[in-house]
Amino acid sequence: MTTHRRNELLSDAAVVDWRRVDTVVLDMDGTLLDLHFDDFFWGEYLPRCFAEREGLDLASARRRMRPWFEAVEGTLDWYCLDHWQQRLGLDLLALKRQVADRIAVLPHVPEFLARVNASGRRLVLATNAHPASLELKLARTGIGEYFDRLISSHEFGAAKESSLFWQRLCQREAVDAGRTLFVDDSPRVLRSARDFGVGQVLAMCAPDSIGTRREVSGFTGIDDFRAITCLLPGQTPARDGERN
Ligand SMILES: [Mg+2]
Repeated sequence: MTTHRRNELLSDAAVVDWRRVDTVVLDMDGTLLDLHFDDFFWGEYLPRCFAEREGLDLASARRRMRPWFEAVEGTLDWYCLDHWQQRLGLDLLALKRQVADRIAVLPHVPEFLARVNASGRRLVLATNAHPASLELKLARTGIGEYFDRLISSHEFGAAKESSLFWQRLCQREAVDAGRTLFVDDSPRVLRSARDFGVGQVLAMCAPDSIGTRREVSGFTGIDDFRAITCLLPGQTPARDGERN
């Protein structure tokens, strides 16, 4: 089945009930931005830089780094540039800047963001990315201009995988969880949002431009934002000829 056809079917099934949405909360990496950058940075570039610095071959460097990553998976430290700077003795932000030309917006994202703006709904970006990473990515892509609020979970002292994050989001930002739509590509984060009581939760199934497709068990998924953009109130559904 083609992506277009799949999106049409999803649209037909009305994956989002926009009448019950006041606030749209969106993840950044793998939802709005191409996850290829992060996969490349953490999986290739950083191990290579660490190997060089330590005088190790790449496989040995990866072996040494693996337990450090496993120890903090799902916590803020996993996403924290300061934590890794201390652990690896490398300036992560400087390294990210060296490969920042790989930071890219996923297809159909700006159209969706503009339409949410036009519909009058509140638009919030909620990312586990460190504030310095967030700043770098916003400077590269310009997507920040669409949002009413940009939140790094570091600011709340809890990763999105934790219910504490959602509690703080609702309390501090006066967000009504039940009338919120949330989109993310991480199964753990999606579960955390649903368990907390976020009204509508969607999985991004195509987080990178390489074509890796990941269904998230138990969640309705979209391949890109066209499936829900065309149903935003006040907008007419796009016809095939208008898509691309
Ligand atoms: Mg993500």
